[in-house]
Amino acid sequence: MLHPGAPRAEILALLEREFGSDLLTCPEALDARSRDDSGICLPPAAVLLARDEAQVARLVVLANEHGFAVIPRGAGTGLAGGCLAETGGVVLDLTAMNRILAIDAESVTATVEPGVFTGDLRRAAKAKGLFYPPDPASLDTSTIGGNAATNAGGPACVKYGTTRDYVLGLTAVLPTGEVIRAGTATRKGVVGYDLTRLLVGSEGTLGVITQLTLKLLPHPAHQQCLAAVFADLDSAMRAIIAVMTRGHLPSAMEFLDATCLKLVGDLLPGHVKDSLTGRGEALVLIECDGTREETARSAADIEAICRELGALAILPAPDDEAREAVWKVRRSVSSRIHEACTVFIPEDIAVPIGNIARMVAALPQVEGRYGVVIYAFGHAGDGNIHLNLTSPDEAARPRVEAAAEECVRLALALGGTMSGEHGVGLAKRHLLPLEISPVSLRLQRGIKNLLDPNNILNPGKLFPDVAAVNGNPKEDA
Ligand SMILES: Cc1cc2nc3c(=O)[nH]c(=O)nc-3n(C[C@H](O)[C@H](O)[C@H](O)COP(=O)(O)OP(=O)(O)OC[C@H]3O[C@@H](n4cnc5c(N)ncnc54)[C@H](O)[C@@H]3O)c2cc1C
Repeated sequence: MLHPGAPRAEILALLEREFGSDLLTCPEALDARSRDDSGICLPPAAVLLARDEAQVARLVVLANEHGFAVIPRGAGTGLAGGCLAETGGVVLDLTAMNRILAIDAESVTATVEPGVFTGDLRRAAKAKGLFYPPDPASLDTSTIGGNAATNAGGPACVKYGTTRDYVLGLTAVLPTGEVIRAGTATRKGVVGYDLTRLLVGSEGTLGVITQLTLKLLPHPAHQQCLAAVFADLDSAMRAIIAVMTRGHLPSAMEFLDATCLKLVGDLLPGHVKDSLTGRGEALVLIECDGTREETARSAADIEAICRELGALAILPAPDDEAREAVWKVRRSVSSRIHEACTVFIPEDIAVPIGNIARMVAALPQVEGRYGVVIYAFGHAGDGNIHLNLTSPDEAARPRVEAAAEECVRLALALGGTMSGEHGVGLAKRHLLPLEISPVSLRLQRGIKNLLDPNNILNPGKLFPDVAAVNGNPKEDA
């Protein structure tokens, strides 16, 4: 397969004539699009700050004619290097296509361009009494297009599902430059293969999403949460499972292991902080939504279950101010890890919920074998564990990488997956054969080849055997 790279100098000049000031080549513009949140840095040859779908389609047609790579990009908060120009190429920045075209309160849908920030959509929907549930922690800094391309999730997944569950239909520029409309504007639709669900989660390799029709829900009237400290993660997980098997479906169930609590425990209020002895406690955060009466009843039941299963301390958070304080503890974990550690590799494995405690119990052995520190936290309700593998020493990076691979192998052995929500991109493509069988991989490559015969759209992402040379297309062995 061809692996296109950067456009040659005369093609760059052609692009400048074609797109005028929307084509950016100054060092600042390239530098700003050379990174995402994976820690990888790969500068593009140029950036097209697209204003409309016609420009997107024109760029893709030119890429096919002249053999250069096009890399779709939202806000660049991805954690897998998916929006980076590995082979040079032109980054297609979609953040200027950022209009909320409609919030239809009668059909309970939204129609948006891909560059809309997720938090802005949620606020616009809420203003009409409606709810867009997907809530990646990056919701104020990431785009709906990027969320759809990575099938982003968040704490609310446990009750409401992921981004894919809310994309009813979309418009996309295919890698050939043709524009398709996939899906419907209706709640149901079974006509033909489901190309919408194929494009969602395809990490910008099968099409550039230029418009989305999203399902909304009525906004819950009330939200209430509580934080509970347990003596160890095993007891914490038993409480989580008891909550789910006794008739409750909370809108978030998060956990922090003992290593994370050492980093952020100081943010907890007095009596809960005082219950931490540093001997292996785990924190659980559970949120309910619905009417005021329903949430109060659920929160009381859940508190009783946590006490029955041995909670050492409980912090109810019945109002917005108290909720915000509790969520701050959870949201501070990533930034505190990044501040504290020179090397950190974020993994986001998922395992069946019943295996979370087993997965976390295996981590000290990995830490010992590779001389790394592992922070485990995340979505207890859906088994999606964020593992941050860290070291204070840059020279230890190869050991941290080896430990990360071992964690992926452990998750797979426990019936899990290597990524619950962050995707494969560049960062994890070498691990893909651990999870995807040769037959499935061949089928997936076949789909890519069918849609993108010249491999111009986001080449090298997802698939493991890329041998790209900057500016020099070459064949795979
Ligand atoms: C602090 C922090 C917290 C995070 N929390 C979460 C979380 O809770 N849940 C979660 O799922 N993720 C989380 N992430 C990861 C990241 O925010 C998500 O992957 C997000 O969906 C990326 O959106 P983006 O607009 O930044 O896309 P980018 O990073 O720009 O791109 C991501 C991928 O999408 C493709 N893409 C972007 N736009 C389009 C488009 N219009 N058409 C086709 N392909 C496109 C790119 O090519 C790339 O492959 C977090 C990241 C950070 C830094």
